[in-house]
Amino acid sequence: MRDSVLAALAAALLWTALSLLILPEERPAADRASVPAKREETEAEIPVRTEAVPTEEQDFDPAYSLAVLTPDGVQTMDLHSYLTGVLLAEMPVSFGEEALKAQAVACRTYTLERCRNSRHAEAAVCTDSHCCQAWTAPADATPDARKQAEAAVSATDGLVLLYQGALIDATFFSCSGGRTEDAAAVWGSDLPYLKAVASPGEDAERFSNELRVPLEDFRAVLETLDGEIRFSGDPGTWLESVQYTAGGGVASMRLCGRVFRGTVLRKAFSLRSTVFTLSLNREEAVFASRGNGHRVGMSQYGAAAMAQAGNDYETILKWYYRGVELSRADTLFAPS
Ligand SMILES: [Zn+2]
Repeated sequence: MRDSVLAALAAALLWTALSLLILPEERPAADRASVPAKREETEAEIPVRTEAVPTEEQDFDPAYSLAVLTPDGVQTMDLHSYLTGVLLAEMPVSFGEEALKAQAVACRTYTLERCRNSRHAEAAVCTDSHCCQAWTAPADATPDARKQAEAAVSATDGLVLLYQGALIDATFFSCSGGRTEDAAAVWGSDLPYLKAVASPGEDAERFSNELRVPLEDFRAVLETLDGEIRFSGDPGTWLESVQYTAGGGVASMRLCGRVFRGTVLRKAFSLRSTVFTLSLNREEAVFASRGNGHRVGMSQYGAAAMAQAGNDYETILKWYYRGVELSRADTLFAPS
């Protein structure tokens, strides 16, 4: 037992040392804490579309109910059941207990933020991963997976992430390819807790991908994006320069005198992430990409690697969301 504790400690120290070696400037910085949060609407009280408000005497999640838009219609469920279903859909239980707990806190934070700023008229959240968060009915999971997901939700009951007292936008994604991304680089607006950080130990090779596009198709897509573009000469000379983001993604590429944003190219060619290279020859355009997802916030494969190295969920969360605090959601409710 003692040996395993020492091994976990050594692994955690090694992970920390590795991170320091890679990017010493990415340690939590006190100066970032003084940057004001931009979202003034988060000053409002939380209970929107809730039918029950928990009191301090009871567990938070089972007493908080919300409307969820599922393929079968709107279902009202308690936060504990909802988050268990989200966890089962969003992260394999094999990622480890602390990664699951980190995911539970991120999803709870995201959910409560959505309860206040919903994209849906009839519900707080939907079960579409491209819009809100994926969700699977806990009853459809195996008993073992359900037990592990429920345990992670229960162990973090009511815990959320705050930045300067307000719920954060706790975005997460699959795999960064080595480094996460500034929110501003992807969505255009800066958030002080969503900054590019190293994400060592990810199983990044899993998402390495090569996409070959016939040259005529490549030209047609670029012409759709920019009607002013004119192609001439050897395709090998078309790519003139590349600008990179702080997170190592493509900020922009200059092709035949025209500039294309990395996020635009990612979407146009359905690339897995903005971490990609492009090479051109007379027959085809070849994209080689790493990572998977928008790369802003917590990397799920990175969280798994940190958990495996012996880090707890709070350490994982505070690594990917800089300058945040872990707090009980009860504190966000106005005293009755
Ligand atoms: Zn939605």
